[in-house]
Amino acid sequence: MFVGHYSAALAAKAAEPRAPLWTLVGACQLMDIAWSGLVMAGVEKLRVDPSLPGSDLDLYYMPFTHSLPGAICWSVLGLVLARWLLKLPMRVAVLIGLTVFSHWVLDFLAHRPDLLLWPGDGKVGLGWWNYPVPEQALEIGLLALAGMWWAWRRGRENRGVFLAVLFTGGLVALQIAAMVLPKATGSDAPFHFAVNALVAYLVVTALAWLIDRQPAKKGSRRR
Ligand SMILES: [Zn+2]
Repeated sequence: MFVGHYSAALAAKAAEPRAPLWTLVGACQLMDIAWSGLVMAGVEKLRVDPSLPGSDLDLYYMPFTHSLPGAICWSVLGLVLARWLLKLPMRVAVLIGLTVFSHWVLDFLAHRPDLLLWPGDGKVGLGWWNYPVPEQALEIGLLALAGMWWAWRRGRENRGVFLAVLFTGGLVALQIAAMVLPKATGSDAPFHFAVNALVAYLVVTALAWLIDRQPAKKGSRRR
């Protein structure tokens, strides 16, 4: 799953406007940000297998980032950083922790069984990746629904819906680009894939930070 993860961030932002958008956008992909780094370092492993139906990623070794205990640790880390480093209110910090964990839940829907329930034992995943059309519809549909909720919330706060529509639309475009652009092949394909993914996650988080910087319109009701 790729942009579908951002649906959790946008829904969380709609539910709790005090949470900075960049923290939620970074949180929903924190596990993949860590995964990109560990793949580049050669610690976690994948191979690209074009014979697979749908997504051609065989994510055969990622115990530190995508196991269930790993996901719980990353979620607690997100909560702790939000509360004690960024000094956000506890309710916001808990929401950020839950947004980190949403990554595992959505990956559980999409991935073929590659998510460890416990390091070394029992891989799970419902495997929607084997059915590319419903899987893409799920990702884009979740994102569109969450994006509409967030845009509606911004409208109610008189903060303007345009940026919300633009950001959500940009994420859909990113998904389509990831689908149609040619992928690296060869032995260093996993490294290139991880680099591209990390750049995408960081750019999207930076754009969310810019949206956070947008001043409220006059007479808006900031919470
Ligand atoms: Zn993931």
